[in-house]
Amino acid sequence: MTCPSWCSTDHEDTEPLPDRTHLSFGNDVPLTLATPNVWHVDDRTIAEQPVLQVALTQHVREVEPRVDVGPDVIRADLPSLNLTLAETAALGRALLAEVERAGREGDVA
Ligand SMILES: [Zn+2]
Repeated sequence: MTCPSWCSTDHEDTEPLPDRTHLSFGNDVPLTLATPNVWHVDDRTIAEQPVLQVALTQHVREVEPRVDVGPDVIRADLPSLNLTLAETAALGRALLAEVERAGREGDVA
C-alpha cells in the first residue's frame, strides 16, 4: 500500500484494514482565550497554553482526506471539527474574511 506524501507513518499491507488510517503530522494553533492546562507535579504547578491540533486523516477506503481540528485529549471542553477538504477551504475563507473585516490580524500567540 502506498501512503500519500503527507502521511506521517509507513503503513504496511499486513496491517488490519481498521488500523490503516493515514495521518499527517499537522499543525498546532495556540489558544490564548482558553483557560490553561494545569498540572500539579510534586510541589510545582505547571500551566500550559492549550492548542487546537489540525491534521489530515484518511482511511484507506476513503476517496480523499478529511481535516480533523481538535484540542488535546484532556480538553473535551474545547471545540472539535471533522471537515471535508471543501468545508475546510470554506471555513478558512470565512475565518480570513472576518480577520479582514476586523482590519488587523492581531498578535500570534
Ligand atoms: Zn499512511
